[in-house]
Amino acid sequence: MNDDDWPFETTFYGEPDAGMLDIHAPEVDWTPAPPPSGDAVSKALHDVFGFSGFRGVQDQVVDRVINGRSTLAVMPTGAGKSLTYQLPAVLLQGTCVVVSPLIALMHDQLRSARANGIRAATLTSADTDRGATMDAFRAGQLDLLYIAPERASQPHFRELLQTARVGLFAIDEAHCVSEWGHDFRPDYRLLRPLLDAFPQVPRLALTATADHHTRSDILAQLGIPDEGLIVAGFDRPNIRYTIRPRENAMRQLKAVVEENPGPGIVYAPTRARVEQLAETLARETGRRVLPYHAGLDPEIRARNQAAFVASEDMVMVATVAFGMGIDKPDVRFVAHAGIPKSIEAYYQETGRAGRDGDPSVAVMFWGADDFARARQRLAEIEPHRQQSERQRLDSLAGLVETAECRRAVLLRHFGETPAQTCSNCDNCLQPVGVIDVTDVARKLLSAVYRTGQSYGLGHLEKVLTGQSDDRVLQRGHDQLSVFGILTDDEKPLLKALARALQARGSLIATEHGGLALGGDARAILKGEAAVAIVVPPKQERKRRSSRGGDTAANPVGDPLFEALRELRRELAKEAGVPPYVIFHDSTLREMATARPASLDDLGSIGGVGTRKLEAYGDAFLQVIRQH
Ligand code: ADP
Ligand code: ZN
Repeated sequence: MNDDDWPFETTFYGEPDAGMLDIHAPEVDWTPAPPPSGDAVSKALHDVFGFSGFRGVQDQVVDRVINGRSTLAVMPTGAGKSLTYQLPAVLLQGTCVVVSPLIALMHDQLRSARANGIRAATLTSADTDRGATMDAFRAGQLDLLYIAPERASQPHFRELLQTARVGLFAIDEAHCVSEWGHDFRPDYRLLRPLLDAFPQVPRLALTATADHHTRSDILAQLGIPDEGLIVAGFDRPNIRYTIRPRENAMRQLKAVVEENPGPGIVYAPTRARVEQLAETLARETGRRVLPYHAGLDPEIRARNQAAFVASEDMVMVATVAFGMGIDKPDVRFVAHAGIPKSIEAYYQETGRAGRDGDPSVAVMFWGADDFARARQRLAEIEPHRQQSERQRLDSLAGLVETAECRRAVLLRHFGETPAQTCSNCDNCLQPVGVIDVTDVARKLLSAVYRTGQSYGLGHLEKVLTGQSDDRVLQRGHDQLSVFGILTDDEKPLLKALARALQARGSLIATEHGGLALGGDARAILKGEAAVAIVVPPKQERKRRSSRGGDTAANPVGDPLFEALRELRRELAKEAGVPPYVIFHDSTLREMATARPASLDDLGSIGGVGTRKLEAYGDAFLQVIRQH
């Protein structure tokens, strides 16, 4: 069969025809096979993937799947979802059909699977070898077949599947099936008839989405029993969280980029800001920095993304349009130049750091104006959504303003019961002080009120500290009871206080840049609500904490490690894949430390499976011998 025979280029939204149930080609052998033994599982884990053991809930998921039981695995980014279907795909009889929403994602997975010697293929409009792929499927020569949902739900695809044995259906990014999820894709809803047409094939749905509604919706929509839900913890222990007020964004971001030599992402709120930051950061740090936002020409966007994926040291400055479907494991930092939309968004965006498990940092720089703008936007959305959106902002303000462990706040938000401290966030590493500033807050709010709720912080500060410039005199603000009311001790607190009050919505920005009372301001004025602020550590301590001394996991300046990286770069270039597809940094690091002398020794290093040992073993051994 050649490409031209591929029958479906257009999306088909027809009704499922129940008559097709169980019409499999007679020659397909559907006799149930006994599940693979524990030994077979460990052997494949080691030989194919080069891993010495499972991580987290991987073993529970794999165990269910190879025993033919449908499962929904909720695992955070980097927890190793792909292994939970790729390993069964190798062991089970028949092909594992993987439904995946993005071509880029599929091709990424394809590369990694093939590099491990797994027989994998994709069927997308971007593939020119579709005829060969279908032949291979029919001949039972594929472990993995990736397909987009709009194709998977078409009758022709079902007919194809009826010509050979299917061992497993894996549905990646399964939250797309739910309207509750953040990426609802109607095509996912059409998968059910396909799944139902193969009742003997187990289903494995995979997602990183935490939300309870979405989970139960996925179970129902994909016909997975409730007992099939496996949820991994949401902690990402290798990510160090740091959240700081924005003072000089450029200087602060520059420091992050300079302290983290590996690949990183800087999220900025607008296209204009992305362009500007990308340009300045490139100039000031000498690093390769490229922009990414929806306003760029699609070709440039794709090129910038490809450059980032392949790079070992590039910085991508991007709007949140960037990230979905990018499986780069070695992103070492994610910096936010302003606040994200919610804690969920923050978790998702920072989660793009450190999928490989190596130390990584997430740094957010926030400003009172971020919250002011976000709260202004609340007024523009439909009234019935305002309440929940306001809650999201309040939770985010809580995370930003907390003196507690950031990780604990994050995990509690997702319904977990974490330890009170983590030793790997700014507040744990450099405990911050909390001071009660209710009195100062009342003075400030009172000044806002008495000056008519239309002046900015600069003017208010003059009034409160008793500086009578022309404007103060002209408006008669020197006559107010709040004029010069702040004590010397209170003066330095004013900026941080105003920021905190804006974050929690007690002060809101007016259209003309003034401040007005909002939220619980009246309760504070009446003495019914208290205000506390955190006192951030001093400048030099701050720098140390965001660097942490060990965020760069790699042995900087180790000539053997550098030589191994050099070889990896060459091999990657030859094979036309990103370097991490050859080996992860952690594998090279282990090689540099253990200095294996034989193929056998090399094979026992994490990440070196049989296929990679054969393909690259000698080349790496040679470099090790020379150093
Ligand atoms: P997810 O899709 O859940 O974000 P991936 O499947 O991309 O995560 O896996 C994340 C990283 O973890 C990959 O680089 C993978 O090689 C690695 N990994 C997965 N399972 C294991 C394991 N059992 N031992 C060591 N590394 C693993
Ligand atoms: Zn902590």
